[in-house]
Amino acid sequence: MSVLITGGAGLLGSHLNIKDSCKPSSKELNLLNYSELQRFIETYKIKKIVHCAALVGGVHANKSKIYDFFNLNLQMNLNVINACKMFNLHNSVFILSTCILPANGPFPLTEEMLHDGEPHYTNYGYAYAKRMLEVGARCMLEQYGTKATCIIPCNFYGANDNHDLEYGHVIPSLIHKCYLAIKNNTDLVVWGSGKPEREFIYVKDLAYVVEQLIDSGDNIDYPQSMIISPNKSYSIESITELIVQKMNFKGNVIFDKTKPDGILKKPTSNALFTKYFPNYNCVPLEYGLDASIEHFTVNYPNVRK
Ligand code: GDP
Repeated sequence: MSVLITGGAGLLGSHLNIKDSCKPSSKELNLLNYSELQRFIETYKIKKIVHCAALVGGVHANKSKIYDFFNLNLQMNLNVINACKMFNLHNSVFILSTCILPANGPFPLTEEMLHDGEPHYTNYGYAYAKRMLEVGARCMLEQYGTKATCIIPCNFYGANDNHDLEYGHVIPSLIHKCYLAIKNNTDLVVWGSGKPEREFIYVKDLAYVVEQLIDSGDNIDYPQSMIISPNKSYSIESITELIVQKMNFKGNVIFDKTKPDGILKKPTSNALFTKYFPNYNCVPLEYGLDASIEHFTVNYPNVRK
């Protein structure tokens, strides 16, 4: 094996198709234990890491478990960076998120702004732990010449998402809620005002980018950090309308303003992404939603929820 994919059972990890790669479960490889990680790299002669593993969740998960999100992610990230440095795992790929960028802009957000301001108060635990991946990658390159590329995707979604009603992200949670509202003939309750805006990328598009970075990273000098987004924002209200229409829900939609909106907007610039992937077109949101809804309904008993 030459590529270690951490978080291989998760949303992004499960979609990655990389030659000579392995996706150990957390039981097979506990990333919080540095000696285990070291042994794994030696045993399987790992040359690169795609670091997808993280404690992740939607706005409620981030806020209610803010210390856990900080602590577990920081420890895991530090172990992964240390392993890259120690074994010179050149051109590894670390997955960050646009939700770690400064909450107050200015907009559109760019890669250079990553450390310019506080992240949103609902997710600063997760955000600072993730920002340290970028700091670690930069220091590792400067002192040891070992490079890792940090990709900063917008909200991604798709088959094999976590559809947990409390802790999931908006698209998988709303698909699940809509499914239950139809089944139980109840209202569909959407969190917050519906006004916040988000950018979304279908998981297969993100997986393609990561695969390219691994396949061609030794030949192309990719930037240290790169935002990956289709550069189009949707309000939560419009996402709800699309899901309702696609799932053919006829009942009432209620916006529960007692629930958090999270950050109101976080539009990004995808100039670097389009520079390095000039011919790549992300699939339209409508296509990704159709595929996600179909996967959820067909696999309902077994989806993560
Ligand atoms: P965020 O982009 O990090 O804030 O993550 P989320 O995907 O959790 O939330 C995005 C937006 O969707 C927020 O404005 C939420 O208030 C809104 N939202 C509406 N309904 C839901 C829901 O059922 N679950 C989640 N997670 N968010 C919801």
